[in-house]
Amino acid sequence: MTTWFISDLHLDPVRPASTRLLLDFLAYLQGRADGLYILGDFFEFWIGDDVLDSPQGQGVLPVVEALARLSASGVPLYFQHGNRDFLVGADFAGRTACTLLPEAQVISLYGQPVLLMHGDQLCTDDHAYQQARRQFRDPAWQRQALAMSIPQRLETARQLRLQSQAHNQTKTEIIMDVNLQTVEQALRTHGVDCLIHGHTHRPAIHDFTLDGRAVQRIVLGDWYEHGSFLRVAPGSKALSAEPGWLVRY
Ligand code: MN
Repeated sequence: MTTWFISDLHLDPVRPASTRLLLDFLAYLQGRADGLYILGDFFEFWIGDDVLDSPQGQGVLPVVEALARLSASGVPLYFQHGNRDFLVGADFAGRTACTLLPEAQVISLYGQPVLLMHGDQLCTDDHAYQQARRQFRDPAWQRQALAMSIPQRLETARQLRLQSQAHNQTKTEIIMDVNLQTVEQALRTHGVDCLIHGHTHRPAIHDFTLDGRAVQRIVLGDWYEHGSFLRVAPGSKALSAEPGWLVRY
């Protein structure tokens, strides 16, 4: 019995190695997992599900088909949006048979409640980003964006990435990490002792005490240098959470 978590693959045609690694990983999971949770920034950018029926989207089809095969093999698949792929929608979910999760979701992991987030909403010291995030998550803004032609959307996505890179170069490491009070508030609000998130690309298991209880914040890693995952199994007392890496030989 194992449940798997990944995030921040930032799949992009310009870095085909991570897509190949993912296809191997998804094939490996068939028949071996109780579930796979994708916690955002699966894609480097996503301009709308209709791209799958356009010439620009053909490169992604092997990934969509591999996710569909994994679902069909009986492994439940869950997808949470990141700050890059917030436009992943119902058509993508239908084609891959994944369940789209809201931006904060508590699951019962072998009986223990665990909070799942992409993690960008925890970076509350980055005021400029939080403001941009409110816009990207606004349904009216999204409808307007999706109404543009595919070439227009590709260009907008490219410009947003350039802007984000320029902004991030001027920010300190601390501003770009999670705010610990926001983390504590999230744990309290959702009544959980464990949070799993991605986004910061700083994989770690943080054990600390909150309101006299032992709590845990598990941060997933990105897929830039190698694949990264978290595998959770039921333990004798608590859950056993084990990070791992995938290397292509
Ligand atoms: Mn992110």
